[in-house]
Amino acid sequence: MEKITEIFGSKVFDDRVMKARLSSKVYQSLKKTIDEGTELDLSVANAVADAMKEWAIEQGATHFTHWFQPLTGITAEKHDSFISPSPDGRVIMEFSGKELIKGEPDASSFPSGGIRATFEARGYTMWDPTSYAFIKDKSLCIPTAFCSYGGEALDKKTPLLRSMEALNKQALRILKLFGKTEVKRVSTSVGPEQEYFLVDKAMFDKRKDLIYTGRTLFGAKPPKGQEMEDHYFGVIKPRVAAFMADLNSELWKLGILAKTEHNEVAPAQHELAPIYTTTNVATDHNQLTMEIMQKVALKHGLCCLLHEKPFAGVNGSGKHNNWSMATDTGINLLSPGETPSENAQFLLFLCAVIKAVDDYQDLLRISVATAGNDHRLGANEAPPAVVSIFLGDELTAILEAIEQDKPYKGAEKTTIKLGVSVLPKFARDTTDRNRTSPFAFTGNKFEFRMLGSSNSISCANIMLNSAVAESLKIYADRLEKSKDFEAALHDMIKNTIKDHKRILFNGNGYDDAWIKEAEKRGLLNYKTTPDCMPHLLDEKNVKMLTAHKVFTETELKSRCEIMLDNYCKTVVIEGNAMADMARREILPAIEGYIGELSETAKNKIKAFGDISVGYEKATAEKLSALSYEIMAKTEELEKELIALKSADGVIKEGYEIRDKLLPKMSELRAAADTAETLTAAKYWPFPTYGDLLFGVK
Ligand code: ADP
Ligand code: MG
Repeated sequence: MEKITEIFGSKVFDDRVMKARLSSKVYQSLKKTIDEGTELDLSVANAVADAMKEWAIEQGATHFTHWFQPLTGITAEKHDSFISPSPDGRVIMEFSGKELIKGEPDASSFPSGGIRATFEARGYTMWDPTSYAFIKDKSLCIPTAFCSYGGEALDKKTPLLRSMEALNKQALRILKLFGKTEVKRVSTSVGPEQEYFLVDKAMFDKRKDLIYTGRTLFGAKPPKGQEMEDHYFGVIKPRVAAFMADLNSELWKLGILAKTEHNEVAPAQHELAPIYTTTNVATDHNQLTMEIMQKVALKHGLCCLLHEKPFAGVNGSGKHNNWSMATDTGINLLSPGETPSENAQFLLFLCAVIKAVDDYQDLLRISVATAGNDHRLGANEAPPAVVSIFLGDELTAILEAIEQDKPYKGAEKTTIKLGVSVLPKFARDTTDRNRTSPFAFTGNKFEFRMLGSSNSISCANIMLNSAVAESLKIYADRLEKSKDFEAALHDMIKNTIKDHKRILFNGNGYDDAWIKEAEKRGLLNYKTTPDCMPHLLDEKNVKMLTAHKVFTETELKSRCEIMLDNYCKTVVIEGNAMADMARREILPAIEGYIGELSETAKNKIKAFGDISVGYEKATAEKLSALSYEIMAKTEELEKELIALKSADGVIKEGYEIRDKLLPKMSELRAAADTAETLTAAKYWPFPTYGDLLFGVK
């Protein structure tokens, strides 16, 4: 057994390696870039590149790649070898500072939503020195941002870094007002809990829907689902345990702090949570985690499903984005403090989040909108599509007391004066119980639970960071001008609670009554991607995001286009896969069984004369009616798919898909699933839900 402390980070060009391999001058200069975002000069870059190359070659690497996150949701890499011809006809291994800092991948194969058409055809990648380089499959991977030649972001990392910068800037202004001048940087941290399914690879290979779309498009409910909850509490099965051990070891080598793993609610569902880290690093790590999960699964004869809803009627998979803000001096700004001043500061940051989530509910909803996640949000195991905040009863009561200038029961029966009163202690435990809230305060962090399992966490964090930066900016503008800081602070917090308390909800988010109540409160309820995505371009959103320099207007337009285009393509592929499976697999299977039934009936009569063939006849009749229906629904589906081709733009296409294509897909599925329950098992052309969900031992 390898020693964890020895393998941890062994494939990462981390601080330890840098210290050991760089001259102290180069190291100091790089460290300054990493910690403070100062520019790196070329001589330093050259020295770093050389050390990286030497280290990587010792680790067996032959290539390097700029590793980036285009708008497709996966990561991209273009590998170049280190070799360079030398005059004697041989090669030397080379890697320059220039190659480290900047790369020029062929950008034309990545979506740009029209940006490159209006600017230039090429794009470039830029090193993000705050995320360590690492080795994967004999390649030195350099985490990078990806931009067009005009400087417009073509990836998810660039706006994420910008949003972190925006929040840093505004948070520092606030901290200065509290006298915290020693703080140089505020950064956001994230710990993403990742859910996934594991199914047997041989079974996966027999299902075209899983192969082409990552989710099952057909499948009758198995006799047993998740009702017993025995999977959640059960021991981890040996094959899964072996997978998890291998996965942990691979993640640790990459310096990823994989910490907890357990079974989830649905059979075959599991979760992995890392220890939290700085947001952009956490994002890189989560992308890597998803990739490594899939690779390691294959080694174990398994397939890792990251789709939000691989199985209808069974829990979907999400990703909980645990988020907080902390100073470089080690203070978590969402941690309630011990002194009156710390309490006031905590409440201010808390209010900034409350205001941000209320003002930009739409952006948060948009940030998690994909075709896959649409199946999950609002289903009865996932948070609703309505955004609300859970604070817990005690913290809510404290805020109410402040809002109404009323005594709070825990606070010595006096009204709470910010900056004067010590906040009553509230137990952390009571804050963590509500699992139905989309956005829950859990003691010293917020847990945003609407993300889908396959989502990059960057989108959610871009919106969250930006919206909070905006609240903090508004607060700082006011407080900097005020003559009486404490009074102004008190009023501001009071007003925030008054203006935004509609977003606070401690009850059961899965309850239908809440959806009605939310509507009364004027909260948004965008059920699907086509419903919410166009609002990315609402004036207030464009204004806020451009003011904080997180996106340009062009970038927003292109993103809206790309997200909707992804949505449309995803569902169209599903529609095509369904039609193909129905025609070439399901219908022939049903007909095969009807043939057998007729054959049996014929033989029975031949052998016995007067004998009942009622079973054969009744089953064949039902199945014949169903096969006719399946054929008819398939034809209707195919017509819709053709009609979509003439839709005028992605917004309209999205609406068509929502209103026409998806309902047709459901109808076809319903008929096929009923047929499955009537067809002899040996005729059914692919593994059933029961096989998939209970097939891994
Ligand atoms: P659970 O939600 O299962 O009770 P925890 O709340 O301890 O578990 O942690 C869940 C995730 O939240 C982990 O990834 C953890 O590292 C992360 N986390 C804990 N504290 C913070 C924080 N201050 N900021 C961001 N993430 C955090
Ligand atoms: Mg949690």
